Amino acid sequence: MDATVLSDLSWLLRWAARLGWNTVSRRPFTPPALNFLVTRRCDLRCKHCFFWEELESQDPSELSLDEIRQIVERMGPLFSLVLSGGEPFLRKDLTEIVKLFYDHNRVKLITILTDGQLTDRVTSSVDRILVECPEGLLIVGVSIDGIGSLHDEIRQKHGAFDRAVASFAALKERSRNEPRLGVQTCTVLMRPNEHHIFDLYAYLRDELSPDRISINLVRQDPLDPSVSGVDPNVYLKLVRMIEKDTYAGRIRNRFPFDRFALSTVADLHMMNLVYATYTTCRPQITCYAGLSSGVLFPDGSVFPCELRQSLGNLREHGYDLGKLWFPYRTELRRNKSRAACFCTHEIDCFLPSLLLNVTHYPSLVRRWLKVFRGQRRMQQRPVSLSIVVPTLNEAGYVGALLESLSTQTYRNFELIVVDGDSHDGTAAIVESYRTRLPSLRLIVEKERGLARARNVGARAASYQDLVFMDADGIVDKDFLATLVWEMRKKGLQVASARTKPLSRRMFDLFFYRLLLDPGMRLLQFFFPIVTGACIAVTRELFDAVGGFDETIHFEDTAFVKKAARQGRFRVLKGACVTTSVRRLDADGRVRTLWKLIIYGVVRRLFRGEKPLSDGFYTFGKFN
Ligand code: SF4
Ligand code: SF4
Repeated sequence: MDATVLSDLSWLLRWAARLGWNTVSRRPFTPPALNFLVTRRCDLRCKHCFFWEELESQDPSELSLDEIRQIVERMGPLFSLVLSGGEPFLRKDLTEIVKLFYDHNRVKLITILTDGQLTDRVTSSVDRILVECPEGLLIVGVSIDGIGSLHDEIRQKHGAFDRAVASFAALKERSRNEPRLGVQTCTVLMRPNEHHIFDLYAYLRDELSPDRISINLVRQDPLDPSVSGVDPNVYLKLVRMIEKDTYAGRIRNRFPFDRFALSTVADLHMMNLVYATYTTCRPQITCYAGLSSGVLFPDGSVFPCELRQSLGNLREHGYDLGKLWFPYRTELRRNKSRAACFCTHEIDCFLPSLLLNVTHYPSLVRRWLKVFRGQRRMQQRPVSLSIVVPTLNEAGYVGALLESLSTQTYRNFELIVVDGDSHDGTAAIVESYRTRLPSLRLIVEKERGLARARNVGARAASYQDLVFMDADGIVDKDFLATLVWEMRKKGLQVASARTKPLSRRMFDLFFYRLLLDPGMRLLQFFFPIVTGACIAVTRELFDAVGGFDETIHFEDTAFVKKAARQGRFRVLKGACVTTSVRRLDADGRVRTLWKLIIYGVVRRLFRGEKPLSDGFYTFGKFN
């Protein structure tokens, strides 16, 4: 069994033993899960906010870092810490707060919920937390309630959506190389977005691809009361979609460190319980809020959950949570109110209570088996792609390529554009696709050279399969899906796609269909010839051949020739790139044909690669 799971289980067993002993001996005890609302300050005023009466632009009553230090020093070990607010990243000392809990309470799982409006502060704090808590597991949830203006309308701030997506993309970028960081989206289902919720779900699933899509039902007394009263059928349909996609392995729905998908199972089960609670108005679970979890407000008030009355303020109890937290006392409180007590609060009610509701175990196990099968299916899918596109003054072309990549049916890819410091607005056009291609990265590389740009892109790539494309190509929406499927089916480590011209001239059709395409197919078995329109290769093979040679002409073909000696190469039949004919226009059709045959094939075949210093081939814009 996974070491993480074993250590989690042993932690919980030790906590259960300590709970038993402290209850019998009537000793003070602190909960293993704490929801700490670190501030009342918030940069938004969302329509669904149930905390709106508490929100302040300044909050002098906020616990200071020194007071928090006193609290954590008197607290027992903590398994899970949720930091929310207000907007937690408005606290400049957020990293220090996390570090205090990490050092004193050995907290393992830290979750921070943000509206994502302060991208720079979010990313720099996350970077610091990961460094300063070397064994901590961090989940950051970014709130997204609609696409574009709908989100802005709900959050009552122009540009809120773009900022939230930018924060999400920056976090996702970090999570690629950091398995201790999980990034989820948090959506509140409410009246204003219930008719658009399936479009939003598709956007989150296909465009943003978070580790988990978290859906919360609007609750309590929101700022705008008209947002309440969601149609339960919409919620149920959404829950079923998430379940189906998870069981089919279509979405990940799992944090990178949660190897056995335990939180996934809990989440799916919890959504079903929320639906049942919402429709029957009856409790579906014995709530252990006040025993296994507690809530700390910014001013030091302690609650068993956000919805019940305060147990007291830590400032009046020597900052000692244990004194307020005798489990038998809080248990009594809970029992007193149980008859009338039920809610749909995911964080305060269901998640901390599931483990203690053993009657739910059979259903959890059934779900786990289905999730496990889905995860197996997902693992069998090809790994994600890193697409590298070099550009230099490609303003007239690159938009069409990015447009076609943004509509791909295969979504498991990141896009890296390496620009040679263009002066025609190429970078601005690339930047304009950030929302539609959240995984897009733009690298400006002042030192020019096509091979160099490709190598730079490959070094920055996060995934194990690389695809190099020219900026003047266009692909159909199934291009990547076909490429991945064909490579996998044929067991290829390196491949090139077919090309066809973006032209109706007879010569161009003749050149591509009767010369280039059949020529590439004929030579693929002993002397591969490719264009730069598309070269797909595994990273292992890319590294093994040392990347593209930056000192020669026809570096793409030379690269494939070398790679084909160590891995299996084919020109794909299904995947096809439509390329511009600007090279033929600029260099002349007959001249280009002559150069390709004489220098690209015959000379290379008998005399080897031609160094750049020979300078015979002047078209290359990068040289
Ligand atoms: S819902 Fe959250 S982000 Fe929105 S106003 Fe309330 S505390 Fe701020
Ligand atoms: S059921 Fe809800 S309101 Fe009642 S104690 Fe649990 S979390 Fe609080």
